[in-house]
Amino acid sequence: MTPTPILSPRMDGINASPASVLRRRARELRAAGRDIIELSSGNLDFPTPDHVIAAAHDAALRRETRYTDVDGTPELKRAVQAALLRDHRLDYRLDEIVITNGSTQALFNALLATLAPEDEVIVPAPYWAPYLGQVRLAGATPVVVPCAQNNGFKLRAEDLQAAISARTRWIVINNPVNPSGALYSSEDLSGIAAILLQHPDIWVLADGLYEHITFDGAPAPTLAEIEPRLKPRTLTVSGLAKSYAMMGWRIGYAAGPSALIRAMITIQSQTTSGASSISQAAAVAALEGAQDVLAERAAILRTRRDRFADLVNGCSGLSCTPPEGTFYLLVSCAGAIGKRAPDGKLIATDRDFATYLLEQADLVVFPGEDLGLSPYVRLSFANPSPVIEEAGRRLKRACEALQ
Ligand code: PMP
Repeated sequence: MTPTPILSPRMDGINASPASVLRRRARELRAAGRDIIELSSGNLDFPTPDHVIAAAHDAALRRETRYTDVDGTPELKRAVQAALLRDHRLDYRLDEIVITNGSTQALFNALLATLAPEDEVIVPAPYWAPYLGQVRLAGATPVVVPCAQNNGFKLRAEDLQAAISARTRWIVINNPVNPSGALYSSEDLSGIAAILLQHPDIWVLADGLYEHITFDGAPAPTLAEIEPRLKPRTLTVSGLAKSYAMMGWRIGYAAGPSALIRAMITIQSQTTSGASSISQAAAVAALEGAQDVLAERAAILRTRRDRFADLVNGCSGLSCTPPEGTFYLLVSCAGAIGKRAPDGKLIATDRDFATYLLEQADLVVFPGEDLGLSPYVRLSFANPSPVIEEAGRRLKRACEALQ
């Protein structure tokens, strides 16, 4: 008999997400020959720009194949420093910047370095689910604050105020928000900043991973730029994954007070030893090269967003508002809940709805249950137009078949 590993108590409450269960089932169905459309993933269908790939190739040929400095290569740290100045007018010293294996690692290093049992982290919902898992792995407790659709899925000042306790250590502010696509304006962030200024012990985890995926040229401000008095207790996090379609290259970064950055580097030195040398060379080219690709791709995504939102809003029981950023539609499926599938199965939750769409319509979507807000499903429009059209047809048929 295969022995079962004894898991650490730190794994309690850290489960495989409903979405990963659905994706596993989708793989099985695909292997069985079904034509599954993937709308649940965080991947963009765009390629990494050619000049970025060429830079990686050059770096490999130059034999840049050794470990880099744990905190990142000086070239990439300087490129990040310049990008933060260019995009946010934020001035950080090099000892205030660390390069990580994706922004995922930046967030985790910061939480692991600072959290103790009993500590709380405020996470607005809907959220990117790993914030919760990371807080729990660091031994602390996430405090989820729902952000309703009628407030544009944004955190209201009074709800933030009510969630703060003597144990609050961090608040996570993701802008624009995965999964709702909500975009906090400078005014929105100023309202949040006004409350945080009254609570000097709370730190800000500002996650701007989708900052360049906004529509009609709208900027995605970050808290440290909106309220300089918060900068000494803000960690500004971002990465290359979404902006430059570099998901698999695994490059992220964080900028903040040097004492925190030092602690994060210490963790990194004990865990990953830093990011890939080749990927770091590629990231320099992405950040320092022509930036036209950002606006060009945002314009393509905007067209797809509008088309997909129209298709979704034409489905009975579904509704969504086109988001201001990211490449996700957060779709209310309230009108499908309580109905029955043709095989008689009750659609009681958004997870049931997602399961129904997979089994009966060959569509993989992300259930809201896993994003902290129900009944919703998240649909990606980072797919070519013909795929979006076909997904729309399948959705419509599936919704019409519900009774
Ligand atoms: N933050 C948000 C809001 C995300 O959606 C993701 C990934 N989809 C990440 C952070 C982590 O991304 P990465 O590690 O690829 O930079």
